[in-house]
Amino acid sequence: MAWMILLNLARKPEFFQASPGTVTGLCWYAANGEPVPAECDLALTVVGDLGMLGPHAIVFLPVSPSSTPNGPGHIRAVHGESVYIIAVSRQSLDLARQQQLYDEGADDVHVLDGRQAMFACLARAKRHFQRLHGVEAVRRDLRERLDVLQAALDHLPTPIYLKDLDGHYLACNTAFASLLSRPREDVIGHRLHELAPSETAEKHETSDAHLLQIGGVMCYETDVCLHDDDERYVMLHKALVTDENGKPCGIAGVMIDITERKRLEARLMNAAERDPLTDAYNRRKFFEIANDAIADAIAHGETLCVAAIDVDHFKSINDEFGHAEGDITLCSIVDILRSHETEGMIVARAGGEEFFVFFFGTAAARAEEILQAMRTEISHYCQIRTAAGGLAGTISVGMAVFDPAAENIDRALRRADAALYHAKRNGRNRLSRAK
Ligand code: GH3
Ligand code: MG
Ligand code: MG
Repeated sequence: MAWMILLNLARKPEFFQASPGTVTGLCWYAANGEPVPAECDLALTVVGDLGMLGPHAIVFLPVSPSSTPNGPGHIRAVHGESVYIIAVSRQSLDLARQQQLYDEGADDVHVLDGRQAMFACLARAKRHFQRLHGVEAVRRDLRERLDVLQAALDHLPTPIYLKDLDGHYLACNTAFASLLSRPREDVIGHRLHELAPSETAEKHETSDAHLLQIGGVMCYETDVCLHDDDERYVMLHKALVTDENGKPCGIAGVMIDITERKRLEARLMNAAERDPLTDAYNRRKFFEIANDAIADAIAHGETLCVAAIDVDHFKSINDEFGHAEGDITLCSIVDILRSHETEGMIVARAGGEEFFVFFFGTAAARAEEILQAMRTEISHYCQIRTAAGGLAGTISVGMAVFDPAAENIDRALRRADAALYHAKRNGRNRLSRAK
């Protein structure tokens, strides 16, 4: 390259105040020993090395009427839009050559034919940089506003994100990145599939697809299992984001952690459904499940079965070994009863040392067999010989098969109860079928 003259306007603010012919006290330098063109009597710094170019530099690039190696395209490729390239020729250029230089990235093409033309050329460069300064000021302002917004979101403990329509995260706050155990940079630009177990990712993508169809806002509770040992529940608020023309352009989401509330709900639910000593279902839950199954059985014309179970001589266990030991025996009995639980069958504590068992679906046909297996196992593991010489800790069972279309569960339980006392009267540790 014969010569190149560069002006760094960022360091030469006086250039902007210059008017034609009035700029004085400024120096010219020439690269590679070349003379400076007489037309350019403005403050310019000459640099022979492209790497020394700062932002907002004007590059005077010498060109010839024919194609030149290392033309404007080369400088543009290295410095992008931060420099203003003026292709300068000492000879006139035809239109095709000028077009070629513009195509290669020249901002201006100048033939050294007079000081006035050079000034116009520099004035265009000046306007270009003024516009650039304006754009950069707006950009800086936007950046600052974005930083404030990001800082505000980062201070919130609630995970927040924005993703594009393909599911790539465009933005998120620190809480969301922490939820994924990654720095924010590893989240932005990626999809949930790359960041979370595929089952979790698929669930969220399915609901995103649904939101895309219906639009607006969705609120729902869901579990987020991001690590094997940590299942959390969130209230997810999602909104379809649209541009100023109403065209969908992304999905924004806020995840409110409700894990503690869900755990409390589960504990309350458990307390409402189960007996606290043995953890067996209570009467309320027993009748709730039974009534659902009865409605189903009536619809399908099925037969059902209930059983009433009472522990034999349980009082003597309490009397002889104490109430605490009695409690342990009760829990052991329930453990055995529940170990026989199968689909279509529930065990509940009816009160004291009495239990109900309800059979429906395919289990109903096997009720007697299952009850006998329970009784045998309990007599094997829980039977105790008392000091008085009697046997305690076994169970007596009364069972009643019933057609729910013809008989309600209360009547069936009464028949099962009568059968139970029949079993008691006949020596205990046995099963009796109701008539
Ligand atoms: P039977 O064979 O005729 O049923 O004799 P039983 O001694 O089992 O019958 P009874 O109704 O006389 O006594 C039941 C006892 O069960 C009395 C009561 O104190 C005891 N019991 C009821 N609930 C509990 C409990 O939760 N824990 C303990 N340890 N004992 C209980
Ligand atoms: Mg009893
Ligand atoms: Mg009893």
